[in-house]
Amino acid sequence: MVASTFSVEDDMVSASLAPSNLAVPAADPHCQTLTRLARTHFNVDTALVTVSDAHGQRLHAFHGLAPDLLPPNLSAPSLHAVSPRAKVVVVSDTADDERFGGGRSGSAARLPRFYASCELTDDDGRHLGALTLLDKLPRTLDDTQRNFLRELAGLIAHGLERDRSLATLRQRVEELEASGELMSLALAGSETGTWDRNVLTGKIDYSAAWKSMLGYAEHEVGNRIEDAYLRVHPDDLAYVQATMRSHFDNKTDSYMVEHRIRCKDGSYKWICSRGKVVKRGSAGHALRMVGTSTDITALRETTAQLHQSIEMVTNLTNEVPGMVFQYRLMSDGVASFPYASDGIRDIYELTPQQAATSAHTIDALIDARDLGAYRESLQASAASLLPWHLEYRVQLPQQGLRWRQGDAQPRRLDDGSTLWHGFITDVTDRKRIEAELQELATVDFLTQLPNRRHFMVQSEAELARIRRAGSSVAAVLMFDLDHFKALNDRWGHAVGDRALSHFAALLRAEVRPGDIVGRLGGEEFAMVLPNTGTDAAITRAARVQQRISRTPMLHGDEPIPMTVSIGIDMIRTSDVGVDQSLYRGDTALYRAKERGRNRIEIYSG
Ligand code: GH3
Ligand code: MG
Ligand code: MG
Repeated sequence: MVASTFSVEDDMVSASLAPSNLAVPAADPHCQTLTRLARTHFNVDTALVTVSDAHGQRLHAFHGLAPDLLPPNLSAPSLHAVSPRAKVVVVSDTADDERFGGGRSGSAARLPRFYASCELTDDDGRHLGALTLLDKLPRTLDDTQRNFLRELAGLIAHGLERDRSLATLRQRVEELEASGELMSLALAGSETGTWDRNVLTGKIDYSAAWKSMLGYAEHEVGNRIEDAYLRVHPDDLAYVQATMRSHFDNKTDSYMVEHRIRCKDGSYKWICSRGKVVKRGSAGHALRMVGTSTDITALRETTAQLHQSIEMVTNLTNEVPGMVFQYRLMSDGVASFPYASDGIRDIYELTPQQAATSAHTIDALIDARDLGAYRESLQASAASLLPWHLEYRVQLPQQGLRWRQGDAQPRRLDDGSTLWHGFITDVTDRKRIEAELQELATVDFLTQLPNRRHFMVQSEAELARIRRAGSSVAAVLMFDLDHFKALNDRWGHAVGDRALSHFAALLRAEVRPGDIVGRLGGEEFAMVLPNTGTDAAITRAARVQQRISRTPMLHGDEPIPMTVSIGIDMIRTSDVGVDQSLYRGDTALYRAKERGRNRIEIYSG
């Protein structure tokens, strides 16, 4: 029993006994010839070659009688073994061999009686398949025949292996071609061309995409490096060549430079050139360099525009008077100025950084009188998301007390915080002018006393206060200079004016805190004295008369005597307006005139 000397796994045998695909194998002339040679040499009914792969074995070539079934591959190694030498298995009579059904009837009867097989292995001893001889008559093979079978198997295996390598190679080439196509597609889409430069000969080849990127047709670009340098913008040439040189000298890992290059129509495009020396001589000198050129004109234009608009916005925010800002109030109450323009240096005498993380630095500068309003107005704006507007005072180390006006638009962010965009301006001058205008509107220019309108407003307020208090009193005193027309006539209008100022100064000297005084018009004046009864009012009126008689106005050395008539009454809680009180004072004054002037009269109904 020859077969019993070989270790063959049972499952592999039974698997091989199953009906197999006997379709006509793909033409392999080399293998066909060797198979024919094997059959002729051994003079058997059938010679066949099977190849094995992960899916089992299949027929690769045969000569002679076609077998009904593929014979078992007894030369296959055990699963883990790698044979140092191709294995030959000879079964002289399959009828005696249990691996072939042990000579029973049925399907086994159709099997040839003689079976000899040599394993096909690659150079590394890996199993490829088998060369098998079959014959209807039992027989044996001597050692020489076995060796010849082994040699034939070697030749077949070699051919198979060569075919396999070729197939692998072909597949790799196909893959490379596909990826090359992809690469050129990608390059075409990205406005990129490629170039290949022979450093020794100075020849440089450009891809079609490179040429069309610059508007050239296929034949319109020369392949000399000297021409290439003529297309580079003169201002960029030195830089391009220096960068190239340092890569040639191995000082840089690769070459990359942005420069302008002339198109066919004479215009320039901005190009980003990247490349690498791919071949160097034994002394390290560059022999071949390949690279890409990408059109970055649009990119550069966009970048330049972006820079320009950033610069413009920065200039605008920095040059406009005042401070442009972002103010952020977190839901936990922490506030900061993430952005503040340079104007913060004038507005708060701080740097943008000093307010970037916390708004405390600014809160500390708000005048104590306005800090409450400042915080409340921001809180209200955050709650309602209505614009913030506030005029407030700040106390600055250098500028002192200044007025600021803030305006900003709030926006709620996803994290619940509120972000304002706005600006703060210096309104100190406007506030001063406003105050001056206010004064102009309320003060009589000649005498610097409150004018009639302002006197009335203040008196109305006093009337309202008396009404609220219920019990308090206030006196109204009406003054009219006596014979003033005559004074004007004698001394002239200018002296008359000085006389009015003189009298106003005397009145002011008599005024106490809380008293209201004013020039009602012409040479008529009035006072409202809070918390003053009739007697006290008479006393005050008499003091005014004394002052004017004791300190007359001087014209040069000459005193100009002046007298004043005074009418008095009380403000009453029943008065609808202060007009009523003044009217009664006027009535009393009229009586004083009537009764001879330089008198004090109390209203008596
Ligand atoms: P009396 O009140 O005692 O009855 O006599 P009077 O001369 O003061 O009479 P009246 O009140 O009618 O005249 C007021 C005068 O005051 C008339 C006007 O020329 C003069 N006067 C009014 N306003 C001014 C002023 O602003 N400057 C000067 N110089 N004179 C004024
Ligand atoms: Mg008068
Ligand atoms: Mg008068």
